[in-house]
Amino acid sequence: MDIQTVGIIGAGTMGNGIAQACAVAGLNVVMIDVAEAALARGVANVATSLDRLIKKDKLTAAQKDAALALITTATDHAALTGAQIVIEAATESEALKVKILQQLDGLLAPEVIVATNTSSISITKLAAATQRADRFIGMHFFNPVPLMALVEIIRGLQTSDATHAAVKTLTERLGKTPITVKNAPGFVVNRILVPMINEAFFVLAEGIATAEDIDAGMKLGTNQPIGPLALADMIGLDVCLAVMNVYMAEYNDSKYRPAPLLKEMVAAGWLGRKTGRGVYTY
Ligand code: NAD
Repeated sequence: MDIQTVGIIGAGTMGNGIAQACAVAGLNVVMIDVAEAALARGVANVATSLDRLIKKDKLTAAQKDAALALITTATDHAALTGAQIVIEAATESEALKVKILQQLDGLLAPEVIVATNTSSISITKLAAATQRADRFIGMHFFNPVPLMALVEIIRGLQTSDATHAAVKTLTERLGKTPITVKNAPGFVVNRILVPMINEAFFVLAEGIATAEDIDAGMKLGTNQPIGPLALADMIGLDVCLAVMNVYMAEYNDSKYRPAPLLKEMVAAGWLGRKTGRGVYTY
């Protein structure tokens, strides 16, 4: 399938990042959100992000203008009819995503691929709610999209080989590296990353080392750019806890037991950078 135009639903953190990656790769982008203000913010974020790349000599001013010219916006989903693929990056709510996907079924030609950027909702389950289950797939980008090289491509049970191949080609065209993943809670990266963060809270609570030493140990000992506790503060402790609760519920395996200290800090409202205090104070 020759993809020339990508529809993106949601102009938030992920939607505008995906829009930028597509436009820089020379694809037409139609970005949809519920309000003009959200769309304006999304496009402004793309412009700021492109300016940063210019400062780093990774992009020219002409390339920035060319990329911005490829992005159009609309609040009406009907603007998506010219797209060969639509990537859904709206708010993380299963009910909302099902509603959007069912709207798309009535609007898009049957051959159009629909991808979702969901972090936590089952691809197989979302696919089953559409009339194009074989042309439905997960495309899990990482934040910030323009800088992060990975895309997890998640195959639902129903996803066809042709859909997988087309999305893999698109991912490579965006300059990203795809990995192929079977649908399962947390996919690959978060399935491993979040329990590691959870374990860091156990280690901290047991007084085995200070937060600073735990983070320094993991940074210097495993070459990660940031320690697990500082990362938890960035992600949000509430988000980490919610993810562990999902694994616990889905796998029913005590290895996913949320660390009591993590639960306690969330109960205190110490959610990380966004509340000014988490493991560290900001
Ligand atoms: P966000 O809140 O920044 O943006 C969501 C946008 O969706 C908002 O602008 C909202 O107005 C819009 N929206 C809501 N309902 C809509 C509708 N019916 N039609 C069109 N737009 C609608 O959220 P985000 O962080 O960009 O997350 C989006 C998706 O990406 C979620 O599924 C999330 O799980 C996933 N994700 C997020 C991250 C991350 O680090 N933020 C990483 C990977 C995946």
